Amino acid sequence: MATIRCTVTNCVYWGDRNYCTAANILVMAGDVQRGLQPRGESAEKLEPTPSAEKSETMCYTFEPL
Ligand code: SF4
Repeated sequence: MATIRCTVTNCVYWGDRNYCTAANILVMAGDVQRGLQPRGESAEKLEPTPSAEKSETMCYTFEPL
């Protein structure tokens, strides 16, 4: 099983240290980069990026708390 790291902290599947706890996720292309450039940073240290709805994430498994 893949390890998925995610910064959408208001998702029911989000876990400590930016781990996703969902069994499966669906990711689709999007333009929601918000100016973030996470390459080279530790996934544990990325800033939270809570989202109001699926269209603001690239993960269509997102379920808001
Ligand atoms: S938004 Fe997607 S990747 Fe992030 S915690 Fe939720 S289900 Fe997992």
